[in-house]
Amino acid sequence: MNRQDFPILEKTIYKKYPLVYLDNGATTQKPRCVVEAMSHEYYNVNANVHRGVHFLSQAATDLHEGSRETVRKFIGAEKTSEIIFTRGTTESINLVASCFSQAFMKEGDEVIVSHMEHHSNIVSWQLVQARMGIKIRVIPITDDGRLDIEAYKALFNERTRLVSVTHVSNVLGTINPVKQLIDIAHQHDVPILIDGAQSTPHMAINVKDMDCDFFAFSGHKTYGPTGIGVLYGKEKWLEHMPPYMGGGDMIKTVSFEHTTFNVLPYKFEAGTPDYVASTGLAKALEYLMNIGMDNIEKHERELTLYAINKMQEIEGMHIFGPIGEHVHEHDAVISFEVKPLGATPHTPYIHHLDMGTLLDRLGIAVRTGHHCAEPLMRRLGVEGTCRASFGLYNTKEEIDTLVQGIKRVQSMF
Ligand code: PMP
Repeated sequence: MNRQDFPILEKTIYKKYPLVYLDNGATTQKPRCVVEAMSHEYYNVNANVHRGVHFLSQAATDLHEGSRETVRKFIGAEKTSEIIFTRGTTESINLVASCFSQAFMKEGDEVIVSHMEHHSNIVSWQLVQARMGIKIRVIPITDDGRLDIEAYKALFNERTRLVSVTHVSNVLGTINPVKQLIDIAHQHDVPILIDGAQSTPHMAINVKDMDCDFFAFSGHKTYGPTGIGVLYGKEKWLEHMPPYMGGGDMIKTVSFEHTTFNVLPYKFEAGTPDYVASTGLAKALEYLMNIGMDNIEKHERELTLYAINKMQEIEGMHIFGPIGEHVHEHDAVISFEVKPLGATPHTPYIHHLDMGTLLDRLGIAVRTGHHCAEPLMRRLGVEGTCRASFGLYNTKEEIDTLVQGIKRVQSMF
């Protein structure tokens, strides 16, 4: 699908092998239109936004605010005042942790996260815990990497103030039933943040239909540039949250005695924003909307099922996350470990680093390690995994290359 739009995919690795890029969960490659829109802005429009009366500043401001409107449309939000530009998912979650807790939490209050969270959705809350003495409650997962919904329901009590969970696990590929999680939270009058870092690139998102209170995602995982991300938040929460950082743009008036803050979303956007990255992000989202998120989802679903089937045929293969009857809950992220050929039940799995390094020599880029999810690694009883993650441009031929590559590595041990 549209491979020719991504110049990097033409690259040959180690002068021999064409690149098979299967590390899209870490970051996606950029289509030409994104890079061109950004260089065009630097060459033709560049000026600081919001503060200038001159032509270029107004043109740059129009582009930046136009990008906010594109983001609004892409995630189906009602108003641009609910779209805050951040540096990425990590900053979006930290913003909520810091500002929501100041406005709505006190010592002994509780936040619910899950056992499959990325560190950004764990450590942000631990910082609040250290500062205010809140409690972090954890939704357990089943052995096949799905949330235990009954246990989730049992975690709510009168001290629960927020739920913060991932939409798609960056390790297990599990697509969590966010609609159900949101409904349950709302039945308890508790707002909920959805970490959309791994879902936004793969499926249509509509925050209004979902009815989540906060939604976070990263530009660079969504075919856009690095250094920009989004926090969507319902106005009713954002209005009452204090600013995240102080500085230019987030104020209305400043004096040494009394400072007043700007309206939404600027209250949360101190300092010069990355207005060129916002243009790149908007271009990426337009690119995705032109292809159609439903088409992307369909293509990647086919790839994922194909990959899981092919990989399961490999002797000694263990795939983490939902498979079998729940395989349809498995998104385009596949973590695996594999034993050497002729292994007995006691033979250890090939170390993920060895597997990743040797696949790399074959021109196949996968990720290895704990994937910023150490508590999940402990739950799975491993130190790390090898992870292949797909994007819109990947093909079945590349999955065949991965399968052959895994078999070749296997035969070396
Ligand atoms: N949450 C999830 C589920 C992720 O996969 C990632 C990135 N691996 C993040 C949060 C953090 O994203 P970023 O580094 O772009 O802020």
